[in-house]
Amino acid sequence: MGHIIFWAIVRTALLIPAMWALYGVVDYRYWWWMVIFSVAAIIIYPISIQYRIFIEENKEIIEHTLCSTCKSFDKTAVICMKLDKHPTLKELPCEGLEWEPVGNENEQKEIDI
Ligand code: SF4
Repeated sequence: MGHIIFWAIVRTALLIPAMWALYGVVDYRYWWWMVIFSVAAIIIYPISIQYRIFIEENKEIIEHTLCSTCKSFDKTAVICMKLDKHPTLKELPCEGLEWEPVGNENEQKEIDI
């Protein structure tokens, strides 16, 4: 997940000076459209593709490991928040010793109150 954010920042850092340089060259009303399309094509679209690839690559871990039923597991980043490590299909960071079930609805309501 970190590499997606890293490359988004790199692309943003390259896009800002490029748009800045074009500001004086291109007519102002077209420049805004260039900015909007550039942000969509160079920053947002690659993020969505990389995120889909990330989810697809980690689908087995997200759905079919002991971690997937543990309340310390963050599915969006595929990381154990308790140990700050990434589980794999072959290795669980805690080896199952720290597993705690995801809370049921009643437990969640008690927390909210
Ligand atoms: S505590 Fe153990 S079972 Fe739970 S998410 Fe972390 S590594 Fe997985």
